[in-house]
Amino acid sequence: MITRLLALTALSLLGASVFADHHEKSAPAKKPPANSNERARPEVITPGTASTNDQPGQPPSDAIILFDGKNLDSFTQKGSPPKWKVENGYTEVNRGGEIQSKQSFGDAQLHIEWATPSEVKGKSQGRGNSGVFLGGYCEVQVLDSFENDTYPGGQASALYGKTPPLINASRKPGVWQTYDIIFHAARDDQPARITILHNGVVVHHGFPLGKKKDRWNLRLQDHGNPVRYRNIWVRELKDYR
Ligand code: MG
Repeated sequence: MITRLLALTALSLLGASVFADHHEKSAPAKKPPANSNERARPEVITPGTASTNDQPGQPPSDAIILFDGKNLDSFTQKGSPPKWKVENGYTEVNRGGEIQSKQSFGDAQLHIEWATPSEVKGKSQGRGNSGVFLGGYCEVQVLDSFENDTYPGGQASALYGKTPPLINASRKPGVWQTYDIIFHAARDDQPARITILHNGVVVHHGFPLGKKKDRWNLRLQDHGNPVRYRNIWVRELKDYR
């Protein structure tokens, strides 16, 4: 009888501790109100500088640098070191297949610069085609869309096959262009969303990308055209709600 009582007591204590554990995990600490002086101060960083056509800008001080013009050490190509050309501060697609970042991300701000060949060859999807993939979520199309007609869902800055951009903000072939991309991962109550600025202009805002919660690796497409990339960095975003 005593043994049975001891066993029951042990079981109920175990149950209580499992419950307490579960309870602690499901109840996040309450933050002081936004206007309270008790609220933690946002981290201080040094903002970056804008790029010019001749020179990439400086990333913000808290950015994770994926490519600064020197090497592709932060990327792989079919599991090996990438063979894309690196020279004069940029890397160039060279028909060896796509490259992929080693690191994966959730909520994040991505900055990337690209230029299609200054010598115009081909038309429609055959002109300066590459792409910025956020894992399996989407391809942000890279294309020479300056006076080059194609189907809207496949033009520069389109979410390829999902939706065209709001406007065509393309620069001339050979001129450096920027994408600033904000990715908001899915939560239990809302889908993943993406906001994109092409050359500083909003082309997508809060576009829903489904409810999966995968992290994403940055992948750059090899579509057979010698498109160039430079100044690639990511900032991981904290959940601040
Ligand atoms: Mg493409």
